[in-house]
Amino acid sequence: MIAAPIAWITHRACLLHEMQPGHPESPLRLEAIEQRLAAGGLDRLLQRHEAPQAPLSLISQVHQSAYVDALFAQQPRLGLLPIDADVVLNPHSLEAALYAAGAAAHGVDLVLDDRASLAFASVRPPGHHAERARAMGFCIFNNVAVAAARAFARGLTRVAIIDFDVHYGNGTADIFGGDPRVQLFSTYEAELYPYWRTPAGMNSLIDRPMQSGDGSAALRHAVEAHWLPALRAFAPQLLLVSAGFDAHAQDPLGGLSFETEDFGWLGRVIRQEAAALCEGRVVATLEGGYDLDALGRCVEAFLQAFVEPEAVV
Ligand SMILES: [Zn+2]
Repeated sequence: MIAAPIAWITHRACLLHEMQPGHPESPLRLEAIEQRLAAGGLDRLLQRHEAPQAPLSLISQVHQSAYVDALFAQQPRLGLLPIDADVVLNPHSLEAALYAAGAAAHGVDLVLDDRASLAFASVRPPGHHAERARAMGFCIFNNVAVAAARAFARGLTRVAIIDFDVHYGNGTADIFGGDPRVQLFSTYEAELYPYWRTPAGMNSLIDRPMQSGDGSAALRHAVEAHWLPALRAFAPQLLLVSAGFDAHAQDPLGGLSFETEDFGWLGRVIRQEAAALCEGRVVATLEGGYDLDALGRCVEAFLQAFVEPEAVV
């Protein structure tokens, strides 16, 4: 028995944004994922959707209008323009960013309309470093935050965001820290970009910093001892996932030691919790993951958790 369909949302414009030759956040990432899913046959189980652009009215729910206006004023017609130490615009970057955010928001519509259980936005640029008024860390618009804004526009009042990227999701914390509608669950490698975290004690943030070299055991402890009790108490109506795969041991940017199977385990936990808490509704959006081989295999393992028959307890 196959579970409810998985929606796979992307747009070819996401391949056109490029920050500089040889940069790890490259179009090759999306191509590597597609190649792995085709090679393993998982692509045949996905319902493909072309992402719409996120409307600016939705983007402005999570980003300052002055920031958005400045981006469009700066967009280069030719060449590359750095707008942050780690963000460069090319002539296609803002178009790609609008489709990336739109994919995440469209995923929310698909799961709320019961057209999918899991919706996965395979997009770039990623989003979780983008703050309310600042592009950072390869991110322009905060895609998962835009998805949450879409959920609120649809009438939801409690949304959980799970972020297992190796880097701290400072942008999501900046946008939603202290917001009672959002509970943010995060594992990340301490001492890694962006080199700071939101002050402890903000009641909507469940942070679990990890140390370089930490792997499966630390992940399981963080999730089982710290995430799950708080997640169940919060009783979300929707699970959003900042799905970064750069905590894999092979990743060149991160120092954690997750194995491919750890992302399968995360997928199974997220699927089970969503089934128990919110009618199975999950929307995941791609964040990091810079070893092309590991990225493809980790996305495959995560998706596989949603297509295999549910475990018989
Ligand atoms: Zn990352």
